[in-house]
This record gives sequence, C-alpha cells and structure tokens, in this order.
Amino acid sequence: MKEFNLLINGRSTPGALSMDVINPATGEVLTTCPRADAKQLDSAVQAAKAAFPAWAKQSVSVRRAKIMAIADGLEARMEELARLLTAEQGKPLREAMGEIGGSAAILRILAGLDLPAKILLDNDKEKIVEHRTPLGVVAAITPWNFPMSILVIKVAPALLAGNTLVVKPAATTPLTSLRFAEICNEHLPPGVLNMITDQNDLGSLLTRHPDVAKISFTGSTMTGKKVMESAASSLKRVTLELGGNDAAIVLDDVNPKVVAPQLFAGAMLNSGQVCLAIKRIYVQESQYDSICSELAALADAAIVGDGMKDETQYGPLQNKMQFEKVRSLMEQTRRDGKYIAGGVVGEGRGYFVRPAIVRDISDDARLVREEQFGPVVPVLPYRMVDDAIARANDTPYGLGGTVWSADPERALEVAMKVDSGIMWVNQHMNFHMDMPAGGSKQSGIGAELGLEGLAEFSQNHIVYVAK
Ligand code: NAD
Repeated sequence: MKEFNLLINGRSTPGALSMDVINPATGEVLTTCPRADAKQLDSAVQAAKAAFPAWAKQSVSVRRAKIMAIADGLEARMEELARLLTAEQGKPLREAMGEIGGSAAILRILAGLDLPAKILLDNDKEKIVEHRTPLGVVAAITPWNFPMSILVIKVAPALLAGNTLVVKPAATTPLTSLRFAEICNEHLPPGVLNMITDQNDLGSLLTRHPDVAKISFTGSTMTGKKVMESAASSLKRVTLELGGNDAAIVLDDVNPKVVAPQLFAGAMLNSGQVCLAIKRIYVQESQYDSICSELAALADAAIVGDGMKDETQYGPLQNKMQFEKVRSLMEQTRRDGKYIAGGVVGEGRGYFVRPAIVRDISDDARLVREEQFGPVVPVLPYRMVDDAIARANDTPYGLGGTVWSADPERALEVAMKVDSGIMWVNQHMNFHMDMPAGGSKQSGIGAELGLEGLAEFSQNHIVYVAK
C-alpha cells in the first residue's frame, strides 16, 4: 500500500508518531498510518490561519471551481478509495462505492449553492445590506461510520464560504480521509485544507485552540458536550451533529410484508452504525406478531461477512470498542427481552454481529433507552398511536425518525408530533443535499446541508447606509 501522510501547509508530512489501522473483518493490522502530535496540530492550525486571508478574498466562483475539481479527482479514484474504505471501515464494497461516488456528488451539489449579498431594505432614507463573511479556521472532526460522506458535507461548504480547514478524521478510519487530502492538495493553495490524525487524543486540543474560529463536529453526544465546553473558551461557533435513538412508528394499516423489509433495511444499514438508523420499532398490537416474524425471517436470511466478498450484505462492526459495547448490550438484553433472531456474537477474529431482533422488551431496558449503534433492534407493541408518539419522544435524543402507513397524510400527522430534526414518511435516509438537516434536543445544534448549512460557515455582516 502506498504510504500515508498528514497534510500540513500543502506538504505531505510524515507523522511525528504512528499507529496501526485495523481491518475490522479480520481484527488484523491493515497498515500503519501517521499520527500527529500537538506540535503538528499547531502547525496545521497556523498554516490554515496563514492561508485564510487570500482564500477568503477569492471569488466564490473560483472557490466553487476548486471544489468541483476535487469532486472530479475523487471520482477518478473511486474504485481505489472504495476498496480502502471497505478495508478500514468494514462496509460492503458496493456500499463503499456508493459512499465515494455519492461524496463526489455531494461536493458538486453543495458547491452549487450560493449565499449572495442581499438588500434587506431600500427606501428614500436608507439601504440595509446583508453580506456573509467567512469565519476563519474551521476544525472539522468526523466519526468512523461514514468517513467520506460526513467529511465532504463539512469540507464543501466550509471552503465555498471562504474558510480554511484543519480536518481530523476518526482514529480508526483515517486512511480514506488521508487519500482525500491528497486530492485536495492537487487543487487547493497550501494551507487551505490541512489534515492531521490522532488516537482520540488531539480532539480537545484542536477544539480549544485559540486560532480555531469554528468547529464542525459529528460524533457522539457525549463527545459533543466536551466539544461545546472547549468551544466556550473563545466563543467558537459550533455545529454539532450527534447521536440519536430514532423511533419507527408503524401504523395499523400497513402490509407487514411490504413494510418489514424497509424497517429492516433502515435498522441494519451499515450494520446499524448509522446516526439516523431505526433504533426502536413501535408496532400497533394487531400487527405486532406478524411484523416481528417478518423481521426475524429477514435477520435469519441476512448474509454477514467480509465486505470485500460479493455476497456480503452486512459487514463487521467498525472497531473493537464498539464491538465490545454492543456485545455487553446484547448480554444485558438477554435478560431484558426475547431474541427472535440473532443474539449470538461471532467467535472469529473479525468484529461480526449477526442482525438481531428483540421482542417482549420494556421501555426502560437499556436496548430501548440507549443508542445501540449496532445491528440489534427492539420491537415494541402499542395500542393507541398517541402512546407510541409519547414513547418515541421520551428520550433526550431528537435526531430522526420514521412513520409507516398505507395513508401518507395520516402518517404525516403523526410525524409532525415527533420531536426530532428530520422525519421520513414511508421512506428512510432519502436526502436532498440542498435541504437542511440537523438534530433537536441532545442530538445536535445547528444544521448541515442546504443554504442553512452553508450559512453556518459564515458570519452575517449587516451594513446600514443613510442616503
Ligand atoms: P465519537 O464522539 O467517539 O468520535 C467522533 C470524533 O470525535 C472522532 O474523530 C474522535 O477522535 C473525536 N474526539 C474524541 N474525543 C474528542 C474530544 N474530547 N474533543 C473533540 N473531538 C474528540 O463518535 P464515534 O464513535 O466516532 O461515532 C459514533 C457516534 O457519532 C454515534 O453516536 C452516532 O450517532 C454519531 N453520529 C452522528 C451523526 C449525525 O449526523 N448526527 C452522523 C454520524 C455519526
């Protein structure tokens, strides 16, 4: 494998330290990778700070053209990067290809947005103009479940708005991101995008750094709270995309055979390691038994294995820590509910967990209360739909959710009552990248995507002109 380097001030830079990257399908070392120290972190921030004034002065069209060129560069290396993504992250190659190709598309869509100056008022006496200015150095911190798509959702608007960046990918999935930095370096001036890696030890230094103006963070709610604390020291702007415990509410008029495969796909995508995965399923009691059996049959038929194999539908969990967390939750669940599919953790060296369906479990069980972030989903009965809504809302999280019904208008009424940032009716994970998305309650602050997401990488600047 060609060597990996950090990117600091346009230079491909060996790490002061190094670390192993593990292939989750084998539990073995895939490669070693550079790891930055605090001094390199500071050099990356200083490079971004020095590059900022010139980049901020570039026209939006020049910046847009650079992002489009990065999208082309990413697409040209799609196969290579998809293989690398499967090797480090575990997801099936087909999905990895979708993530890399999709990331090129996201870059293009987000680069096409614009926030031009606006005249807010213009009369005989005065004119008021709103104009948006970049913030400075943005720290972009990403998780390990969608290393590439979550990265480009931050990079495109940050660059378009005229900011420079220091990117820090997750410790267990740094490789695809480092290749992406190589592509960026072919198109951007030195210092505009810098990338460092760590072993979960540099995040707080980066978010505390006095020369960082804005933090765009995606990860767990627990880490999000720490990020917010660090940001307070210099009142940095923050966008936080955090954890969720999304409910699916299934109304009494669905066809179980049609809905169950959609519920299953929504719960098990990426082996359940999706912030917006279906994490709890509420089913009207008249359909409870039939939907439980449909889900169990799908779980029993699922093909779990190394993402490099053609037939694999579900890869391993991404890292040992997550694997152990899910394993302990599964042990507890054995006492709290009834497995009707799965429930046993693989004995091999990879971090495999078969999709599992749990029924007859109470609302206060850990599997229902906590974000499992794995392929184990509880199914709970309800009698009255208002009760299902109340139980769906009884969580500190508010990321997403779904409602399923033969009558979309009826489902819409239910969806409007669920307190979360994004809801889908009779579909799941369908995004329009030019529409905003963001969590409510402890699932996040601010929005990504769309004009709202772009605006978060800028400051409004209002000028009052007396005539
Ligand atoms: P995590 O919070 O452990 O790590 C995320 C990133 O934060 C990593 O890059 C990590 O190195 C870094 N980090 C660790 N400590 C830090 C600190 N003190 N300060 C700053 N950064 C620090 O999350 P994870 O386990 O990588 O990802 C899974 C979580 O992310 C889940 O809860 C999931 O729901 C959430 N997530 C949310 C979204 C969303 O859009 N809302 C998307 C994907 C994942």
